Amino acid sequence: MPQTLIPPPEQALRVRLRRTFRSRRGLTGLAQWFVDIGIPLLLAFAAFYIVSGIYEGWRVSYKVLLGMEEPPAKGIPLLPWTVSLVGWLLAPAMVGGLAGHIIAARISRTGGTTSKEPFVRRTWGERLTPPPVIDWLGSYFHGRAADVHFVECFVRIAHKNDWARAQDHWEVAVTETMRSVEFSALGRIENLPRAQSHCKVVLRIWALIGVCAVCEARK
Ligand SMILES: [Zn+2]
Repeated sequence: MPQTLIPPPEQALRVRLRRTFRSRRGLTGLAQWFVDIGIPLLLAFAAFYIVSGIYEGWRVSYKVLLGMEEPPAKGIPLLPWTVSLVGWLLAPAMVGGLAGHIIAARISRTGGTTSKEPFVRRTWGERLTPPPVIDWLGSYFHGRAADVHFVECFVRIAHKNDWARAQDHWEVAVTETMRSVEFSALGRIENLPRAQSHCKVVLRIWALIGVCAVCEARK
């Protein structure tokens, strides 16, 4: 086991994106639907529009995508037809999926609610604040004493100074905690910080004897 904790490496863009994506577990309802389904669909939609715009011209691909014009016969074979099909399938899928999600959420809300979150009045500032993102462990290296001690145990002892692996397992632990029954009832603002404090306590106890629950589970 290493005697001292080495400083963390620079945070890669991949890690930053992964943290953001995993943090969506703390979101509730519509926001999570949008991140999980809405954004991928929109990206697919945009990708087809851009490819077709470059090869077939923007005006034509716009009209083809919206079904206002039939696909031109010239240009790359099948591309205009694909764009037309995407417009025909994806747009209704997005609108229908969104509507379905809202209706399902409304119906399930008439059942008993275990959370007081829907009744808590939130200010516009709180509403517009983006949901928190899972902490980057590297920021704990120069952090508060409790956080420094946490990375000492979790990164140095349990992961033998492998910051990348420790970060991955930390995110997995926080994500799973956020999904648990007790934590998922908390609102999108509260869920993540509470799950992180909970994980710090539990993971530290195991890390002190050199064990990471995620490493053990993945053996
Ligand atoms: Zn681990």
